[in-house]
Amino acid sequence: MGRPDERGPSPSAGEARGLEVRGAVVRYPSSRRGSEPTTAVAGLDLHVAPGEVVALLGPSGCGKSSLLRTIAGLEPLAAGEVRWDGVDVAPVPVHRRGFGLMFQDGQLFGHRDVAGNVAYGLRGTPFGATRATRAERVAEMLELVGLAGYGARAVGSLSGGQQQRVALARSLAPAPRLLLLDEPLSSLDRRLREELSVEVRRVLAASGTTALYVTHDHAEAFSVADRVGVMIAGRLRALATPDELAADVALDHDVAAFLR
Ligand code: ADP
Repeated sequence: MGRPDERGPSPSAGEARGLEVRGAVVRYPSSRRGSEPTTAVAGLDLHVAPGEVVALLGPSGCGKSSLLRTIAGLEPLAAGEVRWDGVDVAPVPVHRRGFGLMFQDGQLFGHRDVAGNVAYGLRGTPFGATRATRAERVAEMLELVGLAGYGARAVGSLSGGQQQRVALARSLAPAPRLLLLDEPLSSLDRRLREELSVEVRRVLAASGTTALYVTHDHAEAFSVADRVGVMIAGRLRALATPDELAADVALDHDVAAFLR
């Protein structure tokens, strides 16, 4: 599968490739006078290597979405850095970061057919150059997510699982250098979630996509990711392969209790 040409400068010597989060702090101002601000992310380091899929798992309210939104550029960092290939992305606006986003509700456009939804976002990328390159890319993406031939279907005629496949195809279509997924399967029932998490893993691997995947569902995190990070109260308390976490070796008490 083709990738658009490089975006931005190359990393300087010694810098990590891929995503690097260093000492990230995310804070929300207090909503009432006299109340304390909320620290959602409390000094977090994370490296996601190119082509790697890392899941962030943790209880509701532990700061997963805040971290993801901050990496995307939707929330400011109170302290710390987010780097891609060694380059600080703080000055880069959301739409110039080359990061894709996928949410729980795929936010598809009901007035566009499947192909129109996948083609959305190709403008300004090499794939959007002509009608032919766009059509080719859309067909390639639909094939990738197992929906070849569905281009002309109305999104409203698809099942919830199929709609999330379309959303995945749409977010991968511009070949983002990093895909950020926030609870992408949590509106689906358990059986479908299990089936689709395996599919998402296959699709991310087949497209060589680097991804950070937020979920509160243990099984989903373990089936989708190369490494799973456990976040508790704004901190990354463990980061290891699913096998290592399952073996329960050297995990601290809180992490072990959460995973149990
Ligand atoms: P998670 O994704 O793990 O459920 P969040 O990142 O959504 O966690 O939330 C982390 C903390 O930040 C929670 O205490 C939550 O109430 C708070 N929070 C999240 N978003 C906002 C916001 N926009 N304004 C104020 N507080 C927020």
